[in-house]
Amino acid sequence: MAKVYFRYAAMNAGKSTQLLQVRHNYHERHQRTLLLKPHVDNREGEDVIAPRIGHIVVKVDALVYATTQLRELVERDIQAKGKLDCVLVDEAQFLSPEQVMQLCQVADFLDVPVMCYGLRADFRAQLFPGSGALMALADDIEELKTICWCGRKATINARILDGRVLREGPQVLIGGNEAYTALCRKHWQLDQPIPPELENRG
Ligand SMILES: [Zn+2]
Repeated sequence: MAKVYFRYAAMNAGKSTQLLQVRHNYHERHQRTLLLKPHVDNREGEDVIAPRIGHIVVKVDALVYATTQLRELVERDIQAKGKLDCVLVDEAQFLSPEQVMQLCQVADFLDVPVMCYGLRADFRAQLFPGSGALMALADDIEELKTICWCGRKATINARILDGRVLREGPQVLIGGNEAYTALCRKHWQLDQPIPPELENRG
């Protein structure tokens, strides 16, 4: 029986690197994968996956829009290209709960394993809709760990503007000047995106 896997983290935990490694392993065994990524905005390069480490850039097989029916998309792919061995989804936090259920149907009724990689919580420490649904439905859930500057596990993908932690605003920001950094819950609450000794410099 095929399973649905969810690998989640705060940012910078190497999710895309691991996804591409899994994809590579399938291809090495001459097996076929379908690489998907939700459409979020019209940022340049959104149809590729480019890990922070290394210089690999991989084009996705299909972008997932709000109206995309994932079970149908996978069925069409199998009809056109034959047996499919794995569906891989990057940025799975942006899937709708309905699309997560469709991916469960891909595993349950088409017998194709589905591996989703994504963020657990947004900068407000709220679950992303896709991640909440995956937490509820995935067969196999694993956290990819990353650390805050203090050394504790980072759980929040903090949105930073002018050295301060932002806690309100839209979940998805398009074209802002904000940056993101992985923080532990404590330093997210204390509004300390960098160590105090560095903050006082200059
Ligand atoms: Zn910390």
